[in-house]
Amino acid sequence: MAPSRCRRTGSHKAHSLARQWKTKRRRRDLDQIHEDMLPEKSAKLLRQEPDPDMPGSAQHYCLHCARYFVDLKSMKDHFRSKVHKKRLKQLSEEPYTQEEAERAAGMGSYIPPKKVEVHTQPLDEMEESG
Ligand SMILES: [Zn+2]
Repeated sequence: MAPSRCRRTGSHKAHSLARQWKTKRRRRDLDQIHEDMLPEKSAKLLRQEPDPDMPGSAQHYCLHCARYFVDLKSMKDHFRSKVHKKRLKQLSEEPYTQEEAERAAGMGSYIPPKKVEVHTQPLDEMEESG
């Protein structure tokens, strides 16, 4: 193991801002995920280079929850879980910004202005017929 000589301390946090920051951050998560859902981004996230430092070598990623899973089974279990379904609901209730909608529309998929349908990402090995 290599000792980390130069540890980054980051910026100092102001105590008075702590509460505000927390709510802001949560909101930002969803914004971030909306961005990740854009075709060009999601394609990259769902096809990552194997990374041995990540759970499951970063090969099983839930786009909507921004979570990595150790294997396909864990990810499938997660897709059926309340946490995941709640997240899809949350994401569909958080409208896209106009800019995002336009970008997505440019990629060929129609996004309704206010409400967005959010579905679990398709799995390669799941072969759907009809
Ligand atoms: Zn999920």
